[in-house]
Amino acid sequence: MSRFMSPCFTGLEAYTPGEQPQDQQYVKLNTNESPYPPSPAVVAAISAEEVSRLNLYPDPTGRVLKEKLAALYGVKAENIFLSNGSDDILNFAFMAFCDSERGAAFPEISYGFYPVYADLYHVDCVKIPLKEDFGVDYRDYCNIDRMVVIANPNAPTGMEISLAEIEEILKTNPNRIVLIDEAYIDFGGTSCVDLIRKYDNLLVVQTYSKSRSMAGARLGFAIADAGIIADLEKIKYSTNPYNINRLTLLAGEAAVESNTYYMENARKIAKTRENATERLRQMGFTVLDSKANFIFAKSNAVSGRVLYEELKKKGVLVRFWGKGKIEDFLRITIGTPEQMEILFAKAAEILQEQK
Ligand code: PMP
Repeated sequence: MSRFMSPCFTGLEAYTPGEQPQDQQYVKLNTNESPYPPSPAVVAAISAEEVSRLNLYPDPTGRVLKEKLAALYGVKAENIFLSNGSDDILNFAFMAFCDSERGAAFPEISYGFYPVYADLYHVDCVKIPLKEDFGVDYRDYCNIDRMVVIANPNAPTGMEISLAEIEEILKTNPNRIVLIDEAYIDFGGTSCVDLIRKYDNLLVVQTYSKSRSMAGARLGFAIADAGIIADLEKIKYSTNPYNINRLTLLAGEAAVESNTYYMENARKIAKTRENATERLRQMGFTVLDSKANFIFAKSNAVSGRVLYEELKKKGVLVRFWGKGKIEDFLRITIGTPEQMEILFAKAAEILQEQK
């Protein structure tokens, strides 16, 4: 750190993203990307002609993409906010709706960026422990008088919270934003998007990075009452009005047209997940029931650290945190059936070697 850094950031603990190795080919099951490529329409959308227009700024309003998304979700364009990955929206939400007086609450075990944004804006936050079975107890968030942030399904557990429970949280915190992070909703969960008509405090966040195979393009979106969207737009126009580049906007528009392709991939991934859950349980793993494109699992014979390190040596990359209640758990992204076979084979070898 240089001597120029503002003292208000010196204690900030930045987010550590998952490993993105550029030099070696791994079976990459560590950052919840889709194993399937973008749709042919998306690939075609990034033509040489479009690339040659990169001298021009993108449309800061993202009008065309907003209209397409609005039609897909049965809302109006004024209910849609677009962002550079959904991380961008989480950042803007903490900036817009919280401060040292207006706190936030989220599960203690959840997406690692929530506490980073809370610290960045000096937000008083409560990190609420999960239940014994790793589920979120919705009652902990009722009448809490803070911005509530819940990933549904939660990450890294993959477990879901029901619509009725979300409604209870919304009803009991009418003066606070309830942000439901639906990054993994397309793999079998139930979206709460329709509730935006009933609750003007609901902010639903989704991403193109998972079910829509576009993690590399950085595109996220939020759906909410027009008032909340206007607040987010104000923050965007006060920080970076061109937050989505021309090529990503085009890719996003083509992806909406390819919704059937993506939902079919999501179904395939959910099926591969169910098989992986079963197979790992047969191998003596504890595997939580997941509704996401990953599973959270621990071996009952080998420590999480050994498994993570040995899998990496054998060319399979998974996510490992190695602390607290989840010390021995690995988060394993669901790849293609072929990639999962490699995972099972390498894991079986390690269990044998470590006996
Ligand atoms: N929310 C959750 C729960 C996530 O796991 C992630 C990705 N790691 C994100 C949001 C952010 O994803 P992106 O910025 O790629 O949209």
